[in-house]
Amino acid sequence: MEQIKIQAADKLKTKPDMKNLPFGTYFTDHMFLMDYEEGRGWFDPRIVPYGPVSLDPSAMVFHYAQEVFEGMKAYRTADGRIRLFRPMENIRRMNVSAERLCVPKLPEDIFLEALVQLTRLEKDWVPSESFASLYIRPFVIATEPHVGVHASSTYLFVIITCPVGSYYPEGVNPVKIIIEDEDVRAVRGGTGYTKCGGNYAASIRAADRATAKGYSQVLWLDGVHQKYVEEVGSMNVMFKINGKIITPSLNGSVLPGITRKSCLELLREWGYEVEERDLSVDELTAAAGSGALEEAWGTGTAAVVSPVGEISYKNRQYTVSGFKIGELTQRLYDTLTDIQWGKVEDTRGWISEVCRF
Ligand SMILES: *Cc1c(COP(=O)(O)O)cnc(C)c1O
Repeated sequence: MEQIKIQAADKLKTKPDMKNLPFGTYFTDHMFLMDYEEGRGWFDPRIVPYGPVSLDPSAMVFHYAQEVFEGMKAYRTADGRIRLFRPMENIRRMNVSAERLCVPKLPEDIFLEALVQLTRLEKDWVPSESFASLYIRPFVIATEPHVGVHASSTYLFVIITCPVGSYYPEGVNPVKIIIEDEDVRAVRGGTGYTKCGGNYAASIRAADRATAKGYSQVLWLDGVHQKYVEEVGSMNVMFKINGKIITPSLNGSVLPGITRKSCLELLREWGYEVEERDLSVDELTAAAGSGALEEAWGTGTAAVVSPVGEISYKNRQYTVSGFKIGELTQRLYDTLTDIQWGKVEDTRGWISEVCRF
């Protein structure tokens, strides 16, 4: 494995108020870069001062969106250790995304080493405030200067990091979501199961429409029949119906979330019956109408678990668990955050320690 060169910033930035951190706004002092050339592979892994990267206007990422990314966090425990949550899952998923987008795969060992070394160097940026963390955004872009559709012959791998506050500064509150029956996020055979920028570009219009109507998230339906539930915003979604947990299966258009996977592992461990299957909007609204729908929540790295308090479909509104966080949703939130912030011991091998002080 090639050694990672470190060029430290001459001058460190003044840190923002860590008690009032908006998401994704302040970036740390350094970033990780690595280049790729066809015939040569990945080379020159380096940590350099954070700053703009220079690209040719014809760089293929600008025209054909050949790009993949990841999202993960570093957490500081009360006794000053800094840790990552299941980082190999993010590394492997980025390579699954890369395969779909014809982006060259990243060597797992260099990727992990880059995450660890960058986080260590930026340790003072990992907030100690409750439920705050250092968000980590690895991504690869196609850089070949060429107009014409084919896989790029050159790429840049970048990791940037930013401190983020608690997703719920006022406590975990339920959200109102609206079922989108026009736009779709992804279709089977497309890129739905990957983390690529193009999926997000296609999702913005529906999100804007939902916001304008007073909803904070879109509940996406499948792209073929517009009948089956897929995801909520950029989170996976789970429902508790008559005591059973139902979540859409990983059918190709659903993103295989690491929080989703962790929740399902916990739920099975706790003895719940879990069904990964198609759930039609008719079945869901019938369950919501009859009271069989006991709880609903989204799962993702940013929010961990996000309780759903209201679902709107074709101008009808359905309240879920009395617009309060459900008991099981709360248990999942508490269990995962306790593991992530080191309030309980990790017995599942989910935590990788980066450093301790
Ligand atoms: C990232 C993402 C998720 C959640 O994945 P986690 O690994 O749990 O953060 C869910 N859906 C979409 C579309 C995503 O991009």
